[in-house]
Amino acid sequence: MVLDVSLVAYLFYRLFLLIRGTRAVPLLNGLFILASGYLAASFLRLHTVRFLLDKILIGAAVAIPVILQPELRRALEHLGRGSFLPSNRTSSEEAEEEILAAIDQVVRAVEVLGRAKTGALIVLERETPIGEFIDTGVQLDARISAQLLTNLFVENTPLHDGAVILRGARVAAASCWLPLAEARVVAQELGSRHRAGIGITEQSDALSIIVSEETGMISVAQGGRLQRPLDEKMLTDLLKAQWLRRKSRSNRFWHWGTSS
Ligand code: ATP
Ligand code: MG
Repeated sequence: MVLDVSLVAYLFYRLFLLIRGTRAVPLLNGLFILASGYLAASFLRLHTVRFLLDKILIGAAVAIPVILQPELRRALEHLGRGSFLPSNRTSSEEAEEEILAAIDQVVRAVEVLGRAKTGALIVLERETPIGEFIDTGVQLDARISAQLLTNLFVENTPLHDGAVILRGARVAAASCWLPLAEARVVAQELGSRHRAGIGITEQSDALSIIVSEETGMISVAQGGRLQRPLDEKMLTDLLKAQWLRRKSRSNRFWHWGTSS
């Protein structure tokens, strides 16, 4: 019985981690509100309201899998690869050091790219898997270095077009195609590089760094929002807060998982 409840709680927790930061969250919120309304209407014997909510809920139950098809596919792929369960990270300190070194290299690259006014788009995968977008580019699986990152965006080279995606402390792929943010949420003067950088953060909890070719300005997008302009210090702090925190949180969870 205890095992049963713990397993269900654990599965829900992993599911929550998987959908956190995706479009699924507001949808599930909406569904929750509708369901609460339905229960309230049943309780208060508001038959017509209950009837209406009942029909809407049935409609939503059919519509949601269709709307969330990409997220569901990703979750199933994830499950299939066995990565639904936490990986056994033995030395969290080592991983943390690696990420710190990577942050240093990324910031250095961004600084060089900004000064040279070379357009760039770098995406950091966090909790939501974005393998689907990594697959659209050229797979690299390379160590992160400032030289590699700067080189990848040099104009008229085969890999410069599109986004570079970082997974863990590795460069997963270059020349990736990202979904564009909806026009209404983005300022008029921003072009497709910025729209793509924002777009990926609307569909996942990823973070993207954008260097403008026109102005050399450095921006960071997260949760569908753009922060700009950023200097080196601000970028470093932001990356430390967002990239390291992700790591330590999953490690802590794993330790908790093994000790209980
Ligand atoms: P900048 O300030 O650098 O000019 P911008 O926001 O005005 O940026 P564009 O000038 O339209 O954007 O930048 C075009 C470049 O953005 C393309 O050459 C390509 O490398 C990149 N890009 C455009 N769309 C996408 C996309 N969907 N996914 C990834 N990269 C994209
Ligand atoms: Mg432009």
